[in-house]
Amino acid sequence: MSTTEQRVAVVTGAARGIGAATAVRLAAEGRAVAVLDLDEAACADTVEKITAAGGRALAVGCDVSDSAQVDSAVARIADALGAPVILVNNAGVLRDNLLFKMSDSDWDTVMNVHLRGAFLMSRACQKHMVDARFGRIVNLSSSSALGNRGQANYAAAKAGMQGLTKTLAKELGKFGITANSVAPGFIATEMTAATAARVGMSFEDFSAAAATQIPVQRVGEPEDVAHAIAFFTGEQAGYVSGQVMYVAGGPLN
Ligand code: NAP
Repeated sequence: MSTTEQRVAVVTGAARGIGAATAVRLAAEGRAVAVLDLDEAACADTVEKITAAGGRALAVGCDVSDSAQVDSAVARIADALGAPVILVNNAGVLRDNLLFKMSDSDWDTVMNVHLRGAFLMSRACQKHMVDARFGRIVNLSSSSALGNRGQANYAAAKAGMQGLTKTLAKELGKFGITANSVAPGFIATEMTAATAARVGMSFEDFSAAAATQIPVQRVGEPEDVAHAIAFFTGEQAGYVSGQVMYVAGGPLN
């Protein structure tokens, strides 16, 4: 199917990293993009990249774990850009710790940003998708969904993203809406740089060590993930739904 209408996409956590690369990529594919992150001012660089290339973008400050903020952000996006019918639930945080040291707040923060955030954003945007009889939802999972030492909270949230994705695919398919999940392995961003700092390694050494364990022998770049997300959000991807695509430089056990 082709359309002459400009679809509106929302990318959460789009001030930097995978979210920023995704926002830029979707804009390059002709989408108008709401660049959403905790701090509206932090979205300026991403918006500038899009507009400098001739695209349409809007910076939106919003905590995705806050129901009222999500509802007003989605209403603002619909007013300013048009009905949001493409949603990339990318905002994320880490609060890594071994189980015996993990605090209640470490657990709740990770669950709230990833899972509650994806739930709230999906619920707010689906109304627009149902009305349009078209929608694309992509939820960021992770290779950690398969289990990862020091990440009980994050692994559970990222496995939860896969269950959420499959359920949205089943509930919303009859309205022309697909839901898929992209599960990155090691991607060079501030998130992995923070992990390197936490374990006392330079990012260069940390990335080089990780690359030796990856079949393609390199770590991923945000654009590698943006490419997979662009596929799932494409006009022609309407028969691909409820899937999890690992973007990890090789298969995972
Ligand atoms: P990142 O560089 O840390 O960027 C995450 C962005 O999300 C930040 O701009 C952050 O804003 C924002 N954010 C955090 N909490 C938020 C909230 N409550 N509401 C709105 N925005 C919020 O992370 P990344 O590496 O690009 O990762 C993006 C996604 O991919 C995450 O879901 C992550 O779990 C997933 N992932 C990453 C990797 C990897 O290797 N990098 C691997 C697998 C999966 P602040 O800076 O203000 O906190």
